[in-house]
This record gives sequence, C-alpha cells and structure tokens, in this order.
Amino acid sequence: MTDHDPLTVGTLSAAPGTRARGTVPADLGTLTVDIPLTLVNGARPGPRVLITAGVHGGEFTGIDAATRLASLLEPALVHGQLIICPVANPPAVYQGRLGVSPLDGVNINRVFPGDPDGGPTERLAAWLFAHLLDGADAYVDLHAGGIDEVLRDFVGHRLTGDTQLDTRTADLAHSLGIEDVILGLDATGGNSHAAAARAGVPAILVETGQLGERDADTATRLVESLCALLRGLGVLEGETPPAAPTPVREWIWAAGITAEQTGLWYPEFTAGDDVTEGQVIGHIIDPSNGQEHKIHTPTSGRVFYGMHALTVAPNTELAAIAVPRAPTRPTSSPRQPPTP
Ligand SMILES: [Zn+2]
Repeated sequence: MTDHDPLTVGTLSAAPGTRARGTVPADLGTLTVDIPLTLVNGARPGPRVLITAGVHGGEFTGIDAATRLASLLEPALVHGQLIICPVANPPAVYQGRLGVSPLDGVNINRVFPGDPDGGPTERLAAWLFAHLLDGADAYVDLHAGGIDEVLRDFVGHRLTGDTQLDTRTADLAHSLGIEDVILGLDATGGNSHAAAARAGVPAILVETGQLGERDADTATRLVESLCALLRGLGVLEGETPPAAPTPVREWIWAAGITAEQTGLWYPEFTAGDDVTEGQVIGHIIDPSNGQEHKIHTPTSGRVFYGMHALTVAPNTELAAIAVPRAPTRPTSSPRQPPTP
C-alpha cells in the first residue's frame, strides 16, 4: 500500500489526486533516450501498479492500449498509484519495429534486470527496473505477436516456489478475462516478468494481437481487460462484476521449435492449432538448391505463437507449444520458449 506522497519518477512527479504526463530521460551511456510516462497518483491509498508496453518494437496493441488507459483513468477515483510506460524501449519501437534494438542488436526482454554498466540495451533494462519497478506491488508487461508473428492471445507468468507470491501472481493473471494462461515452471531468464518475479513482485506477461495489427477494437478490449485487473487489485472500484467471467485454462510451455538453417519457411499451422507429436508443422526450403527440410513437432499440444515470415535464419523461433496443465505438477521442467 502506498501513502499519500507524491509519485515521482526522475523529473516527473504527480501529487496525490493528480496525473502527470511527460518524458523522463534515461542515460544509456552512449546516448540518452526519452521514456514517455504517465503517473496517476490516486486520491486514496492503495497498491502501486506498473504497466509497460513497447518493450519490443512491432508489437502495437499494448502501446495503443496503455496510451488509451493513461488518458482514461481519473486520479480522483483511483486507489493507489499507477505508473504507465507505453513505450519502454523507444529505439526498438520507433526505429526498427523489431524485437531487437537497432542500437546494439540486443533483445531487451532477454537481459532483465539489466546492467547499469553494460551496453545501451542492458542499461535501459536496468533503468526501467530501478525507476519503474522498484516499489511496485504488481507489474503488467504488454506484448503482442510481432509484425512477422502469428499469436493466440494469452497471459504468461512464472512459478517461483514462493507459494504466496505465486498465488498473488496467478490471481493477477486470471483477473484479465483472457482465457488462456500459460505458466513457466521457474523464474529463470531475462524476461521482464521473470526478473520481476525473482525480485518478489507479482508480474505477468500479456500477449494480445498479432502480425502488427493495430485495430481499435483489439486495443479497446485490452483496455477493458486492464480495467478488470485494476478492479481485482482494488485500484478501481468495481461497479458491476462481469456477468460471466471467462473460465481460465492453464497451460504449461512444452516446446519452443527453432530453425536450424537459413531458408524459406512454409508453416502448416496457425496460432491456436492443436498439433500431435511427430506431426510436420512446416518445411524450410533452401533457396540455393530447392532442398526441403521438414520440421516436426517434438510434442503434442497447442501452438500459441509462430513465425509467419517467409525468411528465417538459425535460431528463429518457428513455433511455441503449450500443453494443458495437469492437476499435479510435472517433476522435470520442459523447455520454455522465450516468448515474443
Ligand atoms: Zn514482445
């Protein structure tokens, strides 16, 4: 719970009952980038919630929804504090529109919590964690399928082994009204939500939209989901509970299939398809000799996202597959894809 103090990030500050919008400079060593932020300091005390979007370029739904939400919230009606960062990684969002930064080729969502003495993207990750995540009671990171990715909407989170934290995180994941929730069985790796979980903050990944789509209905639905989440946390007062809450299905990551060679990719699935172990899910053609290399899935399950682009290179993610969560947890950790 926060008290009635100003909410301050760098040079931007909001008194209780007010909203502040602007940019805060982040020093990345070789350059400075301006991070757009909206601070909503509620008139009444409550939790502090961080919402980020634009961690990756080319994933538009979250950026659109976070910006709409920043305008929508009335500080007088808010219990607690919100930090909304619609473009967390401006170089990747505005220049490359890719998962990697044009500054150094680094995917920021593989290097959290960052390094204040590292390269530009590692420094940006460290800046975001130090300035935005520190002191948060909940963290929501908005992603989408990229311009070249098909994706079925899902919420992701990680298990830490801390039962209380994992329960709070699951409650957060289930409160959006998004049907499919996919768990990672540990909190390793450089994803923002994994690093936040390791820091003890309930944190979720929200993946909505695909293929660079930017339609208003998709963004508006995500805003509604975020408002439901904020009602669940007590940040917004719930006037009418949803008539029929979406039943949540829990899944566990089972396989991430990557390309082994450069070539032309012809997928034989789309996001949301169920596949069977051994099934051919596509093939890669070598344009130099026309040779075909079939790609088989190593496991049965549902494809939640996959590559749509024609051209792929070694380590390009072709498909990510999850299986329904069994009542008892598996004893070994299947390989979890790093998520778009
Ligand atoms: Zn992403």
